[in-house]
Formats: sequence, C-alpha cells, structure tokens
Amino acid sequence: MSNHPRFNSIRQTQEALQNKQISCEELTRAYVQSIDEHNDLNAFISVCGERAIAKAKETDSKIVHDDALSGMEGVVLGVKDNILVKGLGCTAGSKILASYTASYTATAVNRLEEAGAIVIGKTNLDQFGMGSSSQFSYFGGVKNPVDPERVPGGSSGGSAAAVKADMCLAALGTDMGGSCRQPASFCGVFGYKPSYGLVSRHGLLSSGPSLDQVGVLAHCVEDIEVIMGVMAGQDGLDANVRLPQFRSRKDVPLNALRIGVPEEFFTDGLDDEIKKAVHDQITMLKKQGATITNITLPHATKEAIATYYIIMPAECSSNLARFDGVRYGTRIEGDGSAGVGSDVIESYLLTREDGFGAEVKRRILLGTFVLSAGYADRYYVRAQQARNMLREGLAKAFREVDIIITPTTPNPAFPIGSKTDDPTTMYLEDIYTVSANLAGIPAISMPCGLSQGLPVGMQIWGRYGDDATVLAVARQLDALNKGQ
Ligand code: GLN
Repeated sequence: MSNHPRFNSIRQTQEALQNKQISCEELTRAYVQSIDEHNDLNAFISVCGERAIAKAKETDSKIVHDDALSGMEGVVLGVKDNILVKGLGCTAGSKILASYTASYTATAVNRLEEAGAIVIGKTNLDQFGMGSSSQFSYFGGVKNPVDPERVPGGSSGGSAAAVKADMCLAALGTDMGGSCRQPASFCGVFGYKPSYGLVSRHGLLSSGPSLDQVGVLAHCVEDIEVIMGVMAGQDGLDANVRLPQFRSRKDVPLNALRIGVPEEFFTDGLDDEIKKAVHDQITMLKKQGATITNITLPHATKEAIATYYIIMPAECSSNLARFDGVRYGTRIEGDGSAGVGSDVIESYLLTREDGFGAEVKRRILLGTFVLSAGYADRYYVRAQQARNMLREGLAKAFREVDIIITPTTPNPAFPIGSKTDDPTTMYLEDIYTVSANLAGIPAISMPCGLSQGLPVGMQIWGRYGDDATVLAVARQLDALNKGQ
C-alpha cells in the first residue's frame, strides 16, 4: 500500500489536498486499493469505486480553482449497509435484502454528500444490526484488523475495521445498544452515539427505532465534530429530531468538570487491564483539577441488559414485519402446498424463513412473545418501567456530575467463533453500552490503552442533548494522552 497517504484526520486530508500534495482522485484510488488489499477482513459488503472517483474529480476541479476546502470535501467515507444510499445496494447484512437497491438516500448521508463526502462503499454488519461480533452477516464475518483471529465487535464491525485499516477516513455506523462504541473499542478507534433525536433516522433500516441513532467511527474526535456539524439536525422526516443543531464546543475547563464514576461498572467480570486503563484516565482528569465522584447506577448494568433485550426484540418484531417479500428484496413464491390457507401467506412465511438469519428470527420470536396478550404486562410493560427507572437514575446523577465515565466493554476483542453459539454470553457484551440507548443520552468510546495487547475503550456519557461536552472532553483527554 505504498501510495496510501494514511491521513488521520479531515483537517490533515484537506490540507494535503489544498497544498496539492495529492489529488483527491489519487487519494480515493488509494482507498479503493486499500479495500482491495484488505479483502480478507471482509469489512465491505459492496464498494462503489467508480462513483467515488467521479465525486473525487469534482473536488479536484474545485482545488484547481483554489477555493479552500471545507465541510466534508475530500473525506472518503464508509457507510454501514443498513443506511440507504440511492442506487446502491442496502442489505442490512441479510439475505432477505441481498438484491435490494435503495431508491433514495438517507438524510445523514445526503447531507454529508452535499458537503462533499465521498462514499466509497457499504460496510458489513450483523444482520439488521443484531449482534456484537459482526459474525452474524449473511455476507460472512468481519475480522479485526488488529488481530484477524478476533472479532471487530458489532454490529458496526465493518465500519470500525474499515477505519482502523485505512480503507476510508471515517465511517457511519448505527448504535442501538452499543454498535458504534463496542466495535470502536475492539478496533482502537473512536465510536460515537449521538443523543437520541439529534440525527435523522430517515433512510436508516432500524430494528429498534426508540434506541437507534446513526453514529460515527473515526480516528479522532475533531472528525466526529465536523461530521456531526454537517449530519445532525431536523429534516422534517424524523419526528423525533427535536434537539437544536449540533455545534461543537471549544475546550471545556477541566478543572471545573465534575465526573461521575458508577461503581456497578467496575465490579466482577471486568477485565483487570481495562479497569486499570480506565482508572488511569480518570486519574489524568483528576490531575487537571476535575472532581471525581463515586456514584451508583443500580439499573444501568445487568438490569439494563434484561430491559434492552425485551424492548429491542419487541420493537424489531413489529418493525421487521415489512420485510415480507412483497415490497422489498427477495421473494419466495408459495404454491399452496404448505396448508396455511393462501399462497400469499405461504410466500411471506417462506421468504422470511429463508431470508432472515437465526439471530433475527430469535429476536422476532422473543419480541412477539413479550408483546403477546397475557405476557406483555409481565415483560414489555415491566421493561418500560425499568427503562424509566434507569432514566430517572441517570437524570439524578447528572444533577451532580457533568459526565459519567465507564469502560466500554468488559473484555477486549474475543476470538472469532467463541461466543457465536451462545446468545446470552453475546448479549452480555453490551452490558456497559445499552443504558445510553435506553436513556437516549450521548456516548463516546475512546481508545484508552491495551489489554492482552489489544485495544480497549473508555466511555464518556453526557446529559441528554449535551453532546458537545462529551466530545470536547474526549478530544481534550485524547490530546493529554498524546502529550499535546
Ligand atoms: N449488540 C446489540 C444488539 O445486538 C446492539 C446492536 C446495535 O447497537 N445495533 O442488539
């Protein structure tokens, strides 16, 4: 990959283009080549090299005219394959959508493209975003670029791997229970989930609509701030986007920062080296004058997992009903022989049986069960109550602290295949991440050291709508880590 410049930020990229160190076309070709060279990682489901190069030429024509580059110009972007880009396939990692082509572009991508972003391809994921390993894709599992024997995390594992291995400068992911943060921590990049309702979900194939947000995987926080500045905000197409436009913050005075450290996140089950790495970060912030307060969030770990794995399947059981072979993607015809009364019903059943993977079916069944008469009160309604208690607990905590720090995951990247057959163990991977989704608050995972020689991540949570503080603190802390 001799000609790959390996830029680590949007600013660095735009400066190099501006100074004519490299043309945007050359840069884009280098990324296409990088994807080719890393084919074995299986980070992309589809690559749109020609489309990307055409867009790069547009940027080059601007540079000739000496206009300063801005926004997303020159930024080669991966897009998770559950986000629509008109004219490109959108599989959600599933067989049921293997032949589907998007008829419109998601708001998030549309805004980024209008600001100059160069979409290079669609990244691999666990089917419909359900999973924590990126091994549940119909198109094969993704490998972690840091150690190809290990998973990259999921479900945005393709996006994390693509950024880490320089197959794109940044990538969009989605985060319903940790899918940007957990892969980011496993691959050693930044992964961010915005406050719920900051980015439009128009054009996102969401499985858990009350939990899901489009998020970002990148090499640095500044890039996330640039992307959010372009991508966030109302579009009139997602009724839940009610927060004001995102604006990044200048540095936060760290000596006035109040940090909450919830004890439940540092108990049994947390890897020792991760515990130490996160504590080292907290110590670093303390040295800058931040106040550290031990807090308790009793509903935010084990209970949150139980709550999430009722609410999320409940939502997906109804939300995925639209994939019936009639409107989108694959259709298997019925011939009346199944004895279900009509060819159409039979066709629905055959299509869904064939098109959905095992994990998706498991969740549809689970969700249908927890919503069914006689059980809804016991499961779904109680889960909603638990969600409210969690929200209240967090609101109370945020009256005393400005941010909350936790590990992102209990362990570093695990070996491929090690949890694939055990859904409960896989669900426990999300123990530190799901609460932010249940409560809708902003959360970032930032690299903070190594365990067993593998990258680990630390999470920063903020008040609902206070994304700018979360990002500023992560940016400042990263600069301190790098001795800047
Ligand atoms: N791992 C979680 C799940 O399987 C979260 C997935 C996501 O955020 N898309 O549901």
